[in-house]
Amino acid sequence: MQLSSDIRSLSITNLEKILLRENFEKYRATQIFDWLTKENIHSFEQMKNLPKELIHFLNSRFKINNVVIQLIKKSRDGTVKFLLSLPDNNVIEAVLIPTEKRITACVSSQVGCSLDCDFCATSKIKRMRNLDFYEIFDQLMILNFESLKLFGRPISNIVFMGMGEPLLNYKNVLKSIEMICSKKGIGISKKKITVSTSGMSKIIKILADKNVKFNLAVSLHSAIEKTRNEIMPFSKDFPLSDLVDSLNYWYQKTKSKITIEYLVWEAINDNISHVNSLVNFCKRVPSKVNLIEFNDIGNLKFKSAKNRWIQKYIEILELNKISVTVRRSRGEDINAACGQLANKL
Ligand code: SAH
Repeated sequence: MQLSSDIRSLSITNLEKILLRENFEKYRATQIFDWLTKENIHSFEQMKNLPKELIHFLNSRFKINNVVIQLIKKSRDGTVKFLLSLPDNNVIEAVLIPTEKRITACVSSQVGCSLDCDFCATSKIKRMRNLDFYEIFDQLMILNFESLKLFGRPISNIVFMGMGEPLLNYKNVLKSIEMICSKKGIGISKKKITVSTSGMSKIIKILADKNVKFNLAVSLHSAIEKTRNEIMPFSKDFPLSDLVDSLNYWYQKTKSKITIEYLVWEAINDNISHVNSLVNFCKRVPSKVNLIEFNDIGNLKFKSAKNRWIQKYIEILELNKISVTVRRSRGEDINAACGQLANKL
């Protein structure tokens, strides 16, 4: 065992074993884990029901590496962005998006991103590392606590649409989802969680086999391979045919439709062959389309398409009986909107 590792990287059974070996009672492990799921516990001294010798032992062996709020920014439209610092001084961002009916928490899964989607600000930050499951859990506990303070309501939905590619850190993402959905977390239903991927087909299949219960969203943006490879160069290694296969596998296993996230840009995909290709894609995959409003990140190549093209997409999708919604941009004035998370204050 590494000295001073985060205590939450242990399972409760392992902690029980360690405590027994050191002549402490087994049930202390449950007490410790109960404290660790409460907000604002930064030290073992705060665990009021533990004997002094145990606190001393814990301090000599473990740390509690909490995620800490560094800055909160509020948008005119009610969206709130959190700049959160990690114990190794890396910084991530998370966002609370309130509406009348919902409060959605948008969380990060990695520090930076290893993918190269040209239209996304996060892709300009080098991927430093994956977040540990308890760091994702901390983010959500913080957001829930702040949501109660700011809006008097807990978070109702969670989207893994912050920094990073959740499927490239899926083990920690899955573990954090288990924790946050448990009674010790915030007890939210998995049906209220959406994990968004840029299209990692192999991992989509792995998750489908694990019988997960959350929703899956895929950032497609073009159903024409050549265009997709230009705007998301990493996708050269992830052919659309594999993506279609994996999404069908997902549907077969989970019986849950996939959300296709789609941006429309001028002179990139605002033409009829792109619309028709999207329709064909959706006919091959049980899905619904979510057209996202583009948030400018200063790359001159990308300019939101004229509204008549967005309307054209909607019209033709609906004509083909494919469900389509438009996601309005939120928090643009504080760089909190989709694709803007880049630690720019
Ligand atoms: N890596 C994951 C999750 C993070 S991005 C993924 O690719 O799905 C969350 C969503 O925001 C994705 O659909 C992404 O394509 C979209 N996005 C990225 N940059 C954007 C921008 N500038 N404006 C609007 N949406 C953007």
